[in-house]
Amino acid sequence: MLFDTHAHLHDAAFDADRPAVLARARAAGVAGFLTIGTDEGTSVAAVALAAAEPDIYAAVGIHPHDASTADGTTLERLATLARAPRVVAIGEIGLDYYRDLSPRAVQRTALVAQLQLARAVGKPVLLHCREAHADLLDVCLAEGVAAVGGILHCFSGDLEVARRGLDLGLLISIAGPVTYPSARRLAEVVRALPLGRLVVETDCPYLPPQPWRGQRNEPAYLPVTAARVAELLGVPMRTVAAATSENAARLLALPPLRSGPAASPA
Ligand SMILES: [Zn+2]
Ligand SMILES: [Zn+2]
Repeated sequence: MLFDTHAHLHDAAFDADRPAVLARARAAGVAGFLTIGTDEGTSVAAVALAAAEPDIYAAVGIHPHDASTADGTTLERLATLARAPRVVAIGEIGLDYYRDLSPRAVQRTALVAQLQLARAVGKPVLLHCREAHADLLDVCLAEGVAAVGGILHCFSGDLEVARRGLDLGLLISIAGPVTYPSARRLAEVVRALPLGRLVVETDCPYLPPQPWRGQRNEPAYLPVTAARVAELLGVPMRTVAAATSENAARLLALPPLRSGPAASPA
């Protein structure tokens, strides 16, 4: 049983066949999903999808790409959404100095505001970071992220960054790139980390594992990523599935996961 800690299932990429995508994932052993907003509109969509599907939870936030939209009015609306019952985290938020789609100072301001929102509502954060790890971890430390916890999603840093993240109380999330033959540094990071601090994700519709590169990603592919993590750690797949699901459920304060959530009650 796996939990997909980072998905964008409300994305238009799934509009044509969302029920089939979810059915394939459930059949593949994915027992829960976190669908994550990246701006105000997608945060509203994430909350709506979580309200309709018992095994989907929502997160609301403004992505660093969209940080320029995080004005006072938008942040107020986000704060209202953040208090909805099936919203279990604030995200995705963070810093992206690779694509720089919003000015860096604006990205940092939006990150600080949303870390403060997370503390105000007592929910963990989902952190996106590309080529900005030093700044991201500094801001997280200054804003007391340890009080709520969080996940460094689609981890792309080195071992030193991972250890700093662990020191801040964060979990490390491994995504499809761990299956790429070129991902040697990420493989080394996974081998060095305690299973008690790892979670797995798809980031669908983006970043498919190796067999599906170039195609749309979906949660049914999550077992391939988890199997690679198990291989790197030298433990059985079921051990990785159980540990990563428990780690996610603890952080997000979820009820215990059950397989076959669509099954009729006994
Ligand atoms: Zn991201
Ligand atoms: Zn994402």
